[in-house]
Amino acid sequence: MAITTNEELLVARKLIIEVSRQLHDAGLLVRTWGNISQRVDDSSFLITPSGIKYEDLTPEMIVKVNINDLSYEGDVLPSSEKAVHAACYKARPDVDFIVHTHQVYASCVGTLGLKKVLTYFDDTDVVIPVAPYALPGTEKLATNVAETIKKFPDANGLIMANHGTICMGATADDAVFEAKKMEVASHNFLVDVCKTDMTHGVCTGYNSHLENGVIVYDSPDTPIRVKEIHEKIYKRRPDVKYIVHNKSEAVMTVSRRASHMRPLLDDFAQLIGYSVKVPSNEHGKDGQSYHNIRKNVNAVFSLNDGAYCVGSTYDDAMAVAIVLDKGCIAYIAVMRNGEGHYLSFWESYKMNRHYRKSYSKLADKKGN
Ligand code: 13P
Ligand code: ZN
Repeated sequence: MAITTNEELLVARKLIIEVSRQLHDAGLLVRTWGNISQRVDDSSFLITPSGIKYEDLTPEMIVKVNINDLSYEGDVLPSSEKAVHAACYKARPDVDFIVHTHQVYASCVGTLGLKKVLTYFDDTDVVIPVAPYALPGTEKLATNVAETIKKFPDANGLIMANHGTICMGATADDAVFEAKKMEVASHNFLVDVCKTDMTHGVCTGYNSHLENGVIVYDSPDTPIRVKEIHEKIYKRRPDVKYIVHNKSEAVMTVSRRASHMRPLLDDFAQLIGYSVKVPSNEHGKDGQSYHNIRKNVNAVFSLNDGAYCVGSTYDDAMAVAIVLDKGCIAYIAVMRNGEGHYLSFWESYKMNRHYRKSYSKLADKKGN
């Protein structure tokens, strides 16, 4: 049903904010990733702005975008995925609400290189289509999504490979239900097919932060060997002020296998780095510095002891910890599945640079 009056537009803007916070609290959106939209009429929709923290959203920041030419009203930059949302509204006239999430299990299943995921939810068979990979925010991604919808006209949800989901519905509740259902169905697939049942989240080990140049440890029991790693990180990375030591099940598992983690997911490439090394022994070439501490690589693995996630604020370090955990679940799923699709060096490098130089700075502008 078309939204016509200013009062109705305000109600719609408030609903988008409410849904975004609901999805954020449920862990289906992380940081500023993901976006939410509602159809206004045949030629326009409202969408969340680009790169703004969900807690900072106000109704004036929700942008009205033209479905056909993607032009928009006002000065606030709309979501970089507006073309994807427009493509969905064009392809599915029955859809009035769309959420794009970066939810854990569906995103991980989307790294396995499948064209569709055959799984189940509540004893009912479910087919989740997977749109082929394209860089985020591109016309190519919108085209891939549109073609996938054409192939699977009845699916209200799809996975964008190596990225996240698109969940659609006639109402906000329908779209949110689709996202939650897809998460359970994707988890079922990981358990059944990849034989991996990983919990997700951050399991804290030894954290610290800098206060007037002095390292303050959260735990008075922090061992000397761990303190030495924290000291080394602060010394080599002057930009780092917080360290979150993540010992989640998935991060611990990856820290036990010597390896080179290439990104499987867009948000990993953007926030953590385009190449993360896991040490294979306790002695580096110089006999001591086996930890791989490098500029613009925000996770430092420790052999058999998880990873130190770094940032200039607590939120930044925590976001690295959350995204690393998801990246590790994806890595384990691909290993157990026997195949998967990694992002290329060029794609990862490009996204990492764009994230650091441009996208991550939008949050400070608060849409102005
Ligand atoms: P925006 O902040 O521009 O909506 O982008 C987030 C995202 O998830 C891109 O795919
Ligand atoms: Zn996204």
